[in-house]
Amino acid sequence: MKQEWLEGHRARKRFGQNFLHDRHWIERIARAIDPKPGDALVEIGPGQAALTREVIAMAGHETAVEIDRDLAAFLRTQFSEDELSLIEADALALDWQTVLPGRRLRILGNLPYNISSPLLFALTTVADRVIDQHFMLQREVVDRMTAEPGSKTYGRLSVMLQYRYVMHKLFDVPPGAFVPAPKVVSSIVRMQPRPVEALESVDSHYFSLVVAAAFQQRRKTLRNAVSKFLDEADIESVGINPGARAEALDVSAFVRLANAAALKAK
Ligand code: SAM
Repeated sequence: MKQEWLEGHRARKRFGQNFLHDRHWIERIARAIDPKPGDALVEIGPGQAALTREVIAMAGHETAVEIDRDLAAFLRTQFSEDELSLIEADALALDWQTVLPGRRLRILGNLPYNISSPLLFALTTVADRVIDQHFMLQREVVDRMTAEPGSKTYGRLSVMLQYRYVMHKLFDVPPGAFVPAPKVVSSIVRMQPRPVEALESVDSHYFSLVVAAAFQQRRKTLRNAVSKFLDEADIESVGINPGARAEALDVSAFVRLANAAALKAK
């Protein structure tokens, strides 16, 4: 393993590049992830390998997905093939089923903030074989992901992700830990998929439609917001007050609404 920076690399905005430079934060993040030999670790966007080096030093091996050709070429000069298996690809377009098939994955990354929500949704396709995911994201996004019903930041992202994962915000990371420094504070979030047996059964198509409609205009009461799918009596029949607003409902209430909408559409 080598310890170099890619001299002269200009951070590419379109790939959301802000590189971690501060040892204190790099070590703290790696300790929180706690990589172990034998873990099937998959890093999204290794960049100039700030976290990658720590992970490989602790676990011996990592698989990584990097979109930037120059960075991919650089990474190949830093690690042996025994240390790093590099997939040069767009993590959004990748068929995640083909990544270490049969293994239980531990996914991590200082994610490009411009694609964080679609990427989180793309990863739900492999949630049934994921042990955990540790991501650095914009603090505001982590606050939305982990928000509880009744809070201002509770919304579509909270409901859709909390249905599938138990989430914990671990700590914030200041802009000064990166080069170039982003304009926003970042946070580390841990996501652990709920066991499949523990998931309430839901029609996933109607779940996304109903949740999106409910939060589209958060000031509207449910009777208005989801009127395309359900009338007042339908909403009441699953034990929910049609005069309530989306932000007051827990995940389980959305599951009941979605299943009622799916039944009605049949
Ligand atoms: N992990 C490095 C660090 O902490 O210093 C870099 C983090 S930087 C915020 C995001 C990284 O993700 C960059 O290396 C960027 O090239 C890569 N990236 C951006 N979009 C990507 C995509 N769609 N698929 C895979 N990697 C991507």
